[in-house]
Amino acid sequence: MTRDIVDERLIGALHVRTLTASDLDRDRPKDHVAYQAGTLSALMDGNFDGDATLEQLLAHGDIGIGTVEALGGELVVLDGTAYLVDGHGRVTKPPPGTRTPFAVVCRFRQVSGFGVGKPTSLATVRRLIDEKVGDPDVLVGVRIDGSFSTARLRSVHRQQRPYPPLVEVTDHQTEWEIDRVDGTIVGFRFPDPAAAIDVPGHHLHLISNDRLEGGHVLDLQIEHGTVHLDTSDELHVELPQGVSLQDGAIVDRDAIARAEGGGEPA
Ligand SMILES: [Zn+2]
Repeated sequence: MTRDIVDERLIGALHVRTLTASDLDRDRPKDHVAYQAGTLSALMDGNFDGDATLEQLLAHGDIGIGTVEALGGELVVLDGTAYLVDGHGRVTKPPPGTRTPFAVVCRFRQVSGFGVGKPTSLATVRRLIDEKVGDPDVLVGVRIDGSFSTARLRSVHRQQRPYPPLVEVTDHQTEWEIDRVDGTIVGFRFPDPAAAIDVPGHHLHLISNDRLEGGHVLDLQIEHGTVHLDTSDELHVELPQGVSLQDGAIVDRDAIARAEGGGEPA
């Protein structure tokens, strides 16, 4: 329904289309297109409610990451099911009507991948992903099935209104470490020019095979596993009321690093 499109623009090489939560229902899901609710900038500013529901998002993708209303934890979408890891590290399945102020999903269609046969740091695997994809300007969907060690994870506690800026929340985030876990990492590598919309670089969440553990990945070692990659040059962003796309140039990258930390600077 092109007449509903609010804005369409190129951010770097990424074709970004903005829409409202009701437009999202009419936006027919396609392969190699990522769908997002909200923006990182809005989240940084403390817009923790959101308009789109998990049900709407799950209609557009089967893997993904994000959070839920009131910043109630880290969201992990795997094989079409949404899991929420709360600030105590507990994993639940959030109701479909739960709203999200920030989430990204895609219908995962593997275009390339590689095996990891020996213990390898996350930093190295990120670099291998970047090399495998080649083009730094495409959005990459990442799925890593495997066995992980010294996984440093984090989540956040549900917030009360009036909401503080994200950096104040993440200054009090909970971090913990899991010695060894079998599971799946899902997420995206966002191109740098998209920094106003997403965390630039790799943004990865983990869920264990028994669905009892998970969280936002700060660091870990991959003991062995398989890396599956999908690429998108199109991102459809649902903008909650009052949220707009900001110019990437005015994004506070230090604040993003502080809020989403643990990643590589590049
Ligand atoms: Zn995260």
